[in-house]
Formats: sequence, C-alpha cells, structure tokens
Amino acid sequence: MKPAEPAAPGGAADDAGHLMILYRGPLSSCDYDCSYCPFAKRRDDPERLRADRIALERFTGWVAGRDHPVSVLFTPWGEGLVRSWYRRAMVELSHLPHVRRVAIQSNFSCRPDWLAEADLGTLALWVTYHPSQITYERFREKCRDLVSRGVRFSVGIVGLPEHLEYARRLRADLPDRVYLWVNAAEGRLYTDAEAAEWTAVDPLFRYSRTPHRSAGRACRTGDSVISVDGDGTVRRCHFVPAVLGNLYDGTFRPRTRPCPLAVCDCHIGYVHLEPTGLYDVFAGGILERIPRDR
Ligand code: SF4
Ligand code: SF4
Repeated sequence: MKPAEPAAPGGAADDAGHLMILYRGPLSSCDYDCSYCPFAKRRDDPERLRADRIALERFTGWVAGRDHPVSVLFTPWGEGLVRSWYRRAMVELSHLPHVRRVAIQSNFSCRPDWLAEADLGTLALWVTYHPSQITYERFREKCRDLVSRGVRFSVGIVGLPEHLEYARRLRADLPDRVYLWVNAAEGRLYTDAEAAEWTAVDPLFRYSRTPHRSAGRACRTGDSVISVDGDGTVRRCHFVPAVLGNLYDGTFRPRTRPCPLAVCDCHIGYVHLEPTGLYDVFAGGILERIPRDR
C-alpha cells in the first residue's frame, strides 16, 4: 500500500507538477430517481455506454503514462460505480505510484466488494445520501461498512428541509472522523436560523450557503487543476466553457488566469478559488472533500 497523501497545509497541490483532473465522460444515466436531478432514472443506450467505457479507458491509459503526480476526481453526470469500467478504473489508478488520489462522486448504490482490490491509501469516495432513494438504515450500514473496510470517504446530503432529520441522525450515527457535508439546495435562500441548523450538522456549511463571488479572482483551475471530458477536451473547470486544448494531442498548456464568471457555487469549483482559503481547510482531501482535521 502506498503512503496516504500527507495532510500538509495547501495539500498535495503544492507539489511541483502535480495535476488534479476532474473527469466527466459521456455517461449520463443513473439508477436513482432524485426529484432534484435532471439525470434521474435516465438510461444510456448501449452505444453511449460503450463510448463512455472507451473514453474512460483512454483517459486511464493517459494517466498511467504520466511521469508527474496526478490526482483524479470522477464527476459523472449520472452514477458511475454501477458500471464495471468505473470500478476498474478506480482500482487500477489507485495502484499507480504517481497517482496521489483517485476519487469519485457517487450515490454508492453499488456493492462494496470491489474495494478490496484497491489501494485504500489512494482511493477515496465522495458519497451522497439521497433519502428518497434508500432507507436510512440501509444507507447507514453502507457507511459503517466503508468505515470498517478502512475506506476514505466523505458523505453528504442536499440541504432540503425534509432532509434535516436524516442528516442529524447520520451525523450522530457515524464516527466524528467521517466528514458529513451539506450542500445548499440550488436557488434556496437560508435564513440565519435555518443556516444554524445545518451548521450544527456541517460546521463548514457557510461555504456552501451562498455562491462565492469569483469574477477576476485567482483560481487554480486551468493551471494545476483541469476539467477533462470524454474526448480529452480540456477546460479550466466544469463551469467555464472555453476550451484550453486537448489532453491527448498535446495542445493543452497550463495557464494561470482569474475566474471569468461572476460567481462559483459548487464545491468542486470554489474549493480551488484562492480567496476562499479552502486548500488549507481541506488540505490532504481537496478532491474528496475531507477537511484536514478528519
Ligand atoms: S443519485 Fe445523483 S445522479 Fe442519480 S438521480 Fe440522484 S442526484 Fe441525480
Ligand atoms: S472560481 Fe469556479 S467558475 Fe471560476 S474558474 Fe474557478 S472553478 Fe471555474
């Protein structure tokens, strides 16, 4: 097993040449049916699934060939871990000596046995709990199983009023070292009293409560952090559409530029926005959303 990424101030991104990649291929289907999601119960036809698998295998092959440190967060539109090729990619990348971290956003509806094949010093999970899709008890057991397997993971929930009791129960039932995050529901304005209730569950809720003003501000994306799609097209992040080149034909060159958008309201973006100071808060767990004190 490789040593775990050190929880140093600034995280591994301070390492020279360390590239963090947010990868999102064509997959856009999910086995869950969350009312707040456009990908609920969407199906991909066999052709799209095949294209997604081939694109993912190309990407993992590219990562395997690097001679510099790389960390990867898979951020599929839908659910990746119900597909064998995502589980395989997680396992394979976890064993590569230059891969510091490989993580995925998931509802973790999949079985956990494949995790036994991975290097758990490198693999991590960003798990989201969707109370309308799985019983509380079943989800809690899944989390406890991850704890007993020694899997590094964060778990979280969307901050809707009907989720509050579930979030409180989960917080009480999981060990303190498991970080439970709360994402502000899209477009929702929280009163101070409501925000206090969510902050009691997630002390870092203030970072999600309102969008971060980002226009003209320093953001590490485009330089040490990039977004890559199934064709290898590189953008600075998932939110700025401008293309910076292609990963596979060598046309991408890292460049430092301020954010061109007015606000950034998603953790996978604003964690890299320098004025937030979140590289210190999440040192050692930037991609999988685990604070340094966990
Ligand atoms: S689990 Fe995630 S991708 Fe699937 S329907 Fe729910 S929110 Fe959407
Ligand atoms: S602040 Fe957010 S939207 Fe702006 S460049 Fe960074 S990640 Fe992208």
